[in-house]
Amino acid sequence: MSQQSNFIYLSPPHMGGREQEYVQQAFAQNWITTAGANVDSFEQELAFYLKIPAAAALSSGTAALHLALLALGVGAGDEVFCSSFTFVASTNPIRYVGATPVFLDSEATTWNLCPNALENALQDRQKKGKLPKALVLVHLYGMPSQMREILEITQHYGIPIIEDAAEALGSTYHGQLLGTFGIAGVFSFNGNKIITTSGGGALVSPDAALVNHARWLATQAKDPLPYYHHTTMGYNYRLSNVSAGIGRGQLEVLEKRVQQRRQVFERYQELLQGITELEWQPEPQGFYANRWLSCFTLKKGSNVSPEELKLKLLAQHIESRPLWQPMHRQPLYQKYDYFGTHVSDDLFARGLCLPSGSSLTQGDQERVAQVIKDAFSA
Ligand SMILES: *Cc1c(COP(=O)(O)O)cnc(C)c1O
Repeated sequence: MSQQSNFIYLSPPHMGGREQEYVQQAFAQNWITTAGANVDSFEQELAFYLKIPAAAALSSGTAALHLALLALGVGAGDEVFCSSFTFVASTNPIRYVGATPVFLDSEATTWNLCPNALENALQDRQKKGKLPKALVLVHLYGMPSQMREILEITQHYGIPIIEDAAEALGSTYHGQLLGTFGIAGVFSFNGNKIITTSGGGALVSPDAALVNHARWLATQAKDPLPYYHHTTMGYNYRLSNVSAGIGRGQLEVLEKRVQQRRQVFERYQELLQGITELEWQPEPQGFYANRWLSCFTLKKGSNVSPEELKLKLLAQHIESRPLWQPMHRQPLYQKYDYFGTHVSDDLFARGLCLPSGSSLTQGDQERVAQVIKDAFSA
């Protein structure tokens, strides 16, 4: 896609102001590598923000998920439960370690993991004599999952949670930040996320030893000897000190970005309140979403489809995007087990994400809203 001046993107990067200063420090110190003061500070600042003992800055959210699974000892012959309604990056690392994914459906309130599907799947596996090694729990579009119910079930069966909070940095559930509920939490700083390092991710845990182990695996698992000596297969997954500089500047404006994204969502609701076909992603009491993307579904029987809306927006140089296609529908993953009642299929069929960047102007947002209004009055 070529850059057009009047094109409205879905979720463009939004710099805070101090990023170049931190990047400049990396240049001044000539630490243009995957270690350095920015990496150390970024890890500390992220852990401090999350009120969690430790964070490892990594090359991507996908790498963070991969390392989380390795740190929990997941491997061939193991099953890992995973939210089906997600981006493929949540699932691929389960295959990287040779484990088998089992997909769980969404519930209609949060669009995230359905506690009933989780309970049914665990009962089934218990009867069969082998429980999953972990649950990859995704908080989609920044919306918290039903944590109380999910924690109750996973604690009962003793299943560790890896929280895929790639889209949910800054969201809270009854005041607690997402990514801090599980044994491991994963974030992404890809260019389209709420804050970015141009590309990057992080792994956090209440267990500092787990984070240290992941950091070691991320630097080729070099044993502590005076020469190169290896007993474990490692990876090259660290974040660059230049990228970490961008991250430091971005963290300083994170709270502001959450406010701005929430404001974008609220403005859409106001601008489009006359269009009764739209049903916005709900936010239950006690749930606080960063509203990474403003999403809605169209009521059943709507005479305009999400695809038609997407094309009409594109004709006006506006990017929009369907909701994620569930993993149990992907050719890559449809042969794996699935538990649920097809809530995620229904969301996929009826949903759309609108431009949601924190830098979206009121005027641009009115442009988006007008296209939608016209589509429904045609
Ligand atoms: C973006 C994203 C990831 C992957 O993060 P990368 O940094 O792009 O590897 C994982 N899970 C979800 C839900 C995401 O949206």
